[in-house]
Amino acid sequence: MSFQNPVFIPGPTNIPERLRKACDMPTIDHRSPLFGQILHPARDGVRRVLQSQTAEVYIFPGTGTAGWETALTNTLSPGDHVLAARNGMFSHRWIDMCQRHGLQVTVIETAWGDGLPADRYEEILTADKAHRIKAVLATHNETATGVKSDIAALRRALDTAGHPALLFVDGVSSIASMDFRFDDWGIDVAVTGSQKGFMLPPGLAITGFSQKAIEATRTAKLPRTYFDIHDMAKGYANNAYPYTPAVGLLNGLNDACQMLLSEGLENVFARHTRIAEGVRAAVRAWGLDLCATSPEVYSDTVSAIRTPEGFNATRIVEHAAQTYGVAFGTGLGEVAGKVFRIGHLGSLTDVMALSGIATAEMVMADLGLPIALGSGVAAAQEHYRATRAAPQRAAA
Ligand SMILES: *Cc1c(COP(=O)(O)O)cnc(C)c1O
Repeated sequence: MSFQNPVFIPGPTNIPERLRKACDMPTIDHRSPLFGQILHPARDGVRRVLQSQTAEVYIFPGTGTAGWETALTNTLSPGDHVLAARNGMFSHRWIDMCQRHGLQVTVIETAWGDGLPADRYEEILTADKAHRIKAVLATHNETATGVKSDIAALRRALDTAGHPALLFVDGVSSIASMDFRFDDWGIDVAVTGSQKGFMLPPGLAITGFSQKAIEATRTAKLPRTYFDIHDMAKGYANNAYPYTPAVGLLNGLNDACQMLLSEGLENVFARHTRIAEGVRAAVRAWGLDLCATSPEVYSDTVSAIRTPEGFNATRIVEHAAQTYGVAFGTGLGEVAGKVFRIGHLGSLTDVMALSGIATAEMVMADLGLPIALGSGVAAAQEHYRATRAAPQRAAA
């Protein structure tokens, strides 16, 4: 595997040189005002990236999965009912976590490739007159299938049903890459990790809580210690953690937020859309289909590409790694062997994306798929030439 090549997995993503340096720092006293100068701006930066005025941001050593657990254990009690749709591997794993914590999950089975069905959420919430459902779970961007869902529509479903359940959103592969509106969408807990849109190494679980979610902690009885947000808040008040924080990563997170906010979130989102559209143009030119079933649900951070019947898509990922030193994502769960994934989030330029598209073409041609070399590259080049904005700096 060449470390010169960018990765095209949908996380961990490519780390800009500037952020690698920001993570690499000498030891400081992690219970000191000096640490506070890293911690507080990082939390504030995350809040702004969430497009929120009010979210309380809690950051744990961990990953996105730890963020899921933070959401559940701080707000719910054993036996509580939650509502979730399953449309891919990540929504599936969050449901599995709920079940292992003794929650009663009503699962809306959804085709892998479709978005979350807001109408089904609304029906179930409307029928729940006793308000037994305490939380509604939604995976904003299902990374396994490359499907984005409409969180504003879920918010409307809750409101139309007049239902007080909390709204938890997994934004692990959307936050800091795709439009994500904590306040406008009335989100109660948002979850992400450091290694996707924030372009950092893995190691941080990043969460935002609404006041309503913080209120819910008062009656929530699920056991929690490491992920207790009140212990964390007490630590923050003293420029510290309840335990040892990942100082270098937090310094990186502070810098990542500065990068994103100085680029401007709208520009960050537009850049992801543009790059994604180039990848999708290539997929069309190859004559292949996306797993995502319609343009409204196309993800701007990852494309899951269906390969022809009878062909094992995992071979593409293996061959790319072995022969060209390039990493793509495999299919997971129900779509294992049926799709391969091109991750296109985080620190990525048109030129980097073209190298991934070109590699995928070589791999598919090597494996005997009927792909004309250059066809997808040309389609993406046309798109990038037609839509290019200001000259892009190399992954600075
Ligand atoms: C990557 C990912 C996760 C899991 O995050 P980890 O950081 O690997 O724990 C959860 N949800 C989605 C949508 C993801 O893309």
